[in-house]
Amino acid sequence: MNYPKSQALFDEAKKRIPGGVNSPARAFKGVGGTPLFMTHAKGPYMYDEDGNEWIDYIGSWGPMILGHAYPAVVEAVQKTAAGSTSFGTPTALENRMAERVCGMVPGLDKVRMTNSGTEACMSAIRVARGYTGRDKFIKFEGCYHGHGDSFLIKAGSGALTLGHPSSPGVTRGTAKDTLTADYNDLDSVERILRENKDEVAAIILEPVAGNMGCVPPRDGFLKGLRKLCDEHGALLVFDEVMSGFRIARGGAVERYRVQPDLMAFGKVIGAGMPVGAFGGSNEVMGVVAPDGPVYQAGTLSGNPVAMSAGIALLTELDENPAIYRELEEQSAKLEQGLKQVFEKHQVTVANNRVGSMLGFFFCDGPVVGFSDVSRTDTEFFSRFFHGMLSQGVYLPPSAYEAWFVSHSHDDTIIRKTVDAADHVLTDLTKNGGPAR
Ligand SMILES: *Cc1c(COP(=O)(O)O)cnc(C)c1O
Repeated sequence: MNYPKSQALFDEAKKRIPGGVNSPARAFKGVGGTPLFMTHAKGPYMYDEDGNEWIDYIGSWGPMILGHAYPAVVEAVQKTAAGSTSFGTPTALENRMAERVCGMVPGLDKVRMTNSGTEACMSAIRVARGYTGRDKFIKFEGCYHGHGDSFLIKAGSGALTLGHPSSPGVTRGTAKDTLTADYNDLDSVERILRENKDEVAAIILEPVAGNMGCVPPRDGFLKGLRKLCDEHGALLVFDEVMSGFRIARGGAVERYRVQPDLMAFGKVIGAGMPVGAFGGSNEVMGVVAPDGPVYQAGTLSGNPVAMSAGIALLTELDENPAIYRELEEQSAKLEQGLKQVFEKHQVTVANNRVGSMLGFFFCDGPVVGFSDVSRTDTEFFSRFFHGMLSQGVYLPPSAYEAWFVSHSHDDTIIRKTVDAADHVLTDLTKNGGPAR
């Protein structure tokens, strides 16, 4: 593949846009090289400025669950935009979105729309603090909740409970209220709760972690968190920005049958438009302005064009139950195919999959938390990534990201992907025995 136009555009982009990208996950920092500039996409394929065709496993990081340019979504966007892109007044579309979301997700009485997953998570934490009257919250190493200040905190060395800003610009004052625990480790959570008695407003987590590859919750982990929250008067917040409407119609809440107090959504809910949402029971959401005192707002929140896109996609997902079954089947085929190829080439690999979210780690398994994820061979991933790119397969450009399968990834696409991996690993193993 050749990408002179993408290369030129990236050089140009770097002059006016920090790092040439509007979100770091798009840059090829972790794998080296030049990100490709897309012009359009259809189903499982993306097309770049140089006219190359790509099999896409990013899916806009989740929203393209039914494939790109899904006709019902495109139609809804065009029709709504023609009648104005925004009013700054309520519209019936917002009611329809709220009805649809509350109908799909168990235990959701009320929902407030935002413009991103970050906003949804920030707001959910503010609501939890306002509701409980407490300042601190617990998050997990390796989970991502957007770029809000209070989430950009990593565990300090030694004592788990002392958080440090993971980005300059986040104050130590903010860091002291964010406590960091180990994913899938209930003991680490219990210890923090005991050490911060009556101070913890919430525990927030990705019920299926998708921002450190794909790491599912261990048996009993979510139930254990529910119990700890109840014992300590803290709210349980599921950040379903990635897992929501992806791993099941009702997300992790449906799949694992554990009821959180608050939920955050994004990605699929907007079908590729900038949308997020957070919600919970009538009681908890009762504190949100203008009903209650917890302020939360957005000039473009509930934007009509974004709402129509989301409604069109969610309607398809809600009314066609075969979709989730078929997503599961296709994703399992991809998982099996790749596993066989890795085995054939004697590559050390651990993998996790929940529905159409996949994680491959180039290290020994099992991978159940951030310390396991950190063992993945990133250098080998980079070589594999670029190999796949040369075969026309666009994987997420980082060893720490989940891969997304869409409903448009049919048998042909899956076979092409597995064949590409076989070809790449043949090349990688040629020079000096096993690939790793
Ligand atoms: C993507 C993501 C976010 C942030 O959403 P943005 O729309 O990028 O602000 C938050 N939480 C999780 C779990 C995510 O995957």
